[in-house]
Amino acid sequence: MLAEEHCQTYHWVQNNGRSYLQLPVLNHPGVFHLFGTRFLGNSDLEHYKPIRLRQVHGDRVQPVPKAPISALLQAIEGDALVTEIPNRFISVGTADCVPILLSDPVKRVTAAIHAGWRGSVRNIADKTVQKMIAVYGAKPENIFAGIGPAIHSCCFEVASDVVAAVEKQTPHAHAVLHQESEKQEEGKWQLDLIRLNRLQLLGAGVPTDHIASAGLCTSCLPNLFYSFRRDKKKRGNMVSGIMLL
Ligand SMILES: [Zn+2]
Repeated sequence: MLAEEHCQTYHWVQNNGRSYLQLPVLNHPGVFHLFGTRFLGNSDLEHYKPIRLRQVHGDRVQPVPKAPISALLQAIEGDALVTEIPNRFISVGTADCVPILLSDPVKRVTAAIHAGWRGSVRNIADKTVQKMIAVYGAKPENIFAGIGPAIHSCCFEVASDVVAAVEKQTPHAHAVLHQESEKQEEGKWQLDLIRLNRLQLLGAGVPTDHIASAGLCTSCLPNLFYSFRRDKKKRGNMVSGIMLL
């Protein structure tokens, strides 16, 4: 395992009753971001007027249209948002899936990604970086990436259907799947979604020291995060987002 994958640098922010996390790697003048927790409700976020996608576990990356925010709420289908427009808090909702926030503070372009295993094996992080470059003129060497709280490999056990998808659709199977010896008979593997997304970002040209993960497993930390897998049903979503000021 690479040393930088152990990076667990995050700040816990308490601001006017709102509780959220920030990753210092994304802190640049003129850019605001947050990763939600159980203690950040929708009403706490009203102030930011979050733009949300109708998330479908796909790989579609959507630019934010030049339209009033009120026309955009849940109107766009996809799993990543990209924008260069200031005061647009682009956001994703997750409860195990990986929230990834991107920023090119030089070109002033931001992106928010919802990367579940389906989106991750379809390279949504790489596709989002490519969109930032192709449509908005971002440079990969100027892009910073924050990977928020998500289910880690400790708790993300998958079966042969997911293993087959990872092997077929990504070149990273050997790096992101491992099998505990006692799980061999059951055919169960542990999947590292954090590493899979990090490898895609690196492959897209984002420098390794520009990528940070909170290092927090949603399933391991019930007091802080919702977890779809742990709770066996949808109890809530954490909202994470980023905005150019
Ligand atoms: Zn865990």
